[in-house]
Amino acid sequence: MELIHQGKVRDVYADRGDLILVASNRVSVYDVILPTEIPGKGALLTALSLWWFERLADIVPNHVISADDVPTEFAGRAVRVKRLDMVKVEAVVRGYLTGSVLNDYRATGTVNGVALPAGLEDGSKLPEPVYTPTTKADVGEHDAPETYEQTAARLGPDLASRVRDLTLDVYRRGAEIALDKGIIIADTKLEFGLDEDGVLTLADEVLTSDSSRFWDAKGWKPGQTQPSFDKQFVRDWARSTGWKPDDAEAPEIPADIVEATRARYIEAYELLTGRRWQ
Ligand code: ATP
Ligand code: MG
Repeated sequence: MELIHQGKVRDVYADRGDLILVASNRVSVYDVILPTEIPGKGALLTALSLWWFERLADIVPNHVISADDVPTEFAGRAVRVKRLDMVKVEAVVRGYLTGSVLNDYRATGTVNGVALPAGLEDGSKLPEPVYTPTTKADVGEHDAPETYEQTAARLGPDLASRVRDLTLDVYRRGAEIALDKGIIIADTKLEFGLDEDGVLTLADEVLTSDSSRFWDAKGWKPGQTQPSFDKQFVRDWARSTGWKPDDAEAPEIPADIVEATRARYIEAYELLTGRRWQ
């Protein structure tokens, strides 16, 4: 198979006109790949994505062709998917206020051009989920936030509005299912593409602990760092070492942090799907 793209986390191969997306055990924080892998992470994220794609299929078609028809060496962490013409936007939606948009909110009261009520804290629930798209940057660049109007100017209003509406629908459905199982999906990022018939199709991974913030609903309290099942844990550890995303070399993750991160990914998978991880 021909390796056509190596992302931060996934390797993408072309095969018989399709793509094979192979999820590695790599972990990236602030768009930097760390030198230490998290065992099982690729398989966990692949299984969770597949589980979600099924549960969202009545809202939006997805790119999955088969999870079985993949080279045996990648079994469990690879999916055969339709090769799509990717829509050049990272479709981010937020049900809660945290992370990269907090500074903008504090400075301007808006995120991506959308005005929010005053007095929100880190972790506050938003009155309505808010669509906060970013550009899809080239390798090595950072995605930049944009207003919905800017996305619409780039993609055309028809495509931009369909992406936004589907993103909000997927988030609402996903957040409701997850909350029922004790997990708050604070925010997530979706990617879409157009298939050969021009059908807007959900691609990439969906509602995983890499593409989303998963919080423990029991421990959620605005104004603090939320207990989470995602890589916030790795981000916080990386920051605590004094490392900055612009530094040349990222630090090795110590064994206890690797194990705790793996445990969080497993817990999210088990809580959401009701299945045992093995
Ligand atoms: P980047 O693309 O900037 O490297 P990334 O590091 O997040 O982003 P990965 O998630 O590791 O990339 O790799 C997956 C890549 O495959 C992404 O570029 C994604 O847009 C692309 N992709 C996912 N599904 C499809 C599809 N069905 N057709 C074409 N490309 C896809
Ligand atoms: Mg990605």
